[in-house]
Amino acid sequence: MAKKSGKRPFTVIANWKMNKTIQQAQEYAKSLPNLLEGVNVGIWLAVPFTAIRPVRETLPVDIHLGAQNMNDATEGAFTGEVAGKMIAEAGADFVILGHSERRQYFHESDEFINRKVLRAIETSLTPILCIGESFEEREGGKMGEKLREQLQKGLEGVSEEGVGSCIVAYEPVWAIGTGKSATPEIILDTHGMIRGEIASMYTEKVAQNIRIVYGGSVSTKSAENIAKIEGVDGFLIGTASLDPESFAKIAQLSQNK
Ligand code: PEP
Repeated sequence: MAKKSGKRPFTVIANWKMNKTIQQAQEYAKSLPNLLEGVNVGIWLAVPFTAIRPVRETLPVDIHLGAQNMNDATEGAFTGEVAGKMIAEAGADFVILGHSERRQYFHESDEFINRKVLRAIETSLTPILCIGESFEEREGGKMGEKLREQLQKGLEGVSEEGVGSCIVAYEPVWAIGTGKSATPEIILDTHGMIRGEIASMYTEKVAQNIRIVYGGSVSTKSAENIAKIEGVDGFLIGTASLDPESFAKIAQLSQNK
C-alpha cells in the first residue's frame, strides 16, 4: 500500500445507531479510557440523543461526542424532531448526516440533507456527510455518478471555510452491516475519486485537507489493512463499535497505519 501523507488526523467514529440505554451508554463510556490507553487516533462516538448528556458527563473531554441525525430547522412545529442547537447544548460537537439508513427508511433527500449540513455548520457542529452507492448502482456502472451527485447536492452552498469543518464518510450501502467490507482496490479508487471531486468543487488544498473516512463492516479483522490504504482518513463503524473492546481494538490497529 502507498504511504499516507500524515496531514489529516486519523479519526475512528462509532455509530451506535438505535442501541444502548443511558445506563448501558455510561457503562461503555466508563470502560473506554482504560481500553484506549496509548492509542493516539481521534475517537468520536455518535450516540442516541438520550445518551449525549450522560455520556458527555462520563467521558474525558478529548473524546468527541455526536448525534446521528438532526433537523434542518432551528425550532418549531416538527413533532419528534431534534434541532442542532439542542444536541450541541447536550454536549455534541458533531453530527452524522445522510446515513444510508436515513436515506432508505426515512426517505431523506439530498436537498434535505444539504439543509442539515448548512445548519450544522452554522451551529458549530462538525457534519459527517455520508455518501455511498447501492449494489445495483455499482453493478450498473453508476457508482461515480451517484457519489458525485450526493457530494454536489449535499455540499451545495457550503463555503470553502465551511467544508473545511466537514468530514465525508464513504459508506457503500452493500457493505453496511453485511460483514463484507469493500475490497482495498475499491476503497482506494473510490476515496481517490471523492477527493478528486472535492478538488474540482473547491480547490486542491481543500481536497487535501478534508478527512474522508470509510464505513462498511469494518472489524478487528479488516481494520489494520484498510487503515493503510492511501486516502483513508478514518472509519465509521456500526456493529463493531457496540462492544467497547472491539471498538478500542480497531482504534489501536488503526494507529499502525
Ligand atoms: C454504519 O452503519 O455506518 C456502518 C458502517 O455499519 P457496520 O459497521 O455495521 O457495517
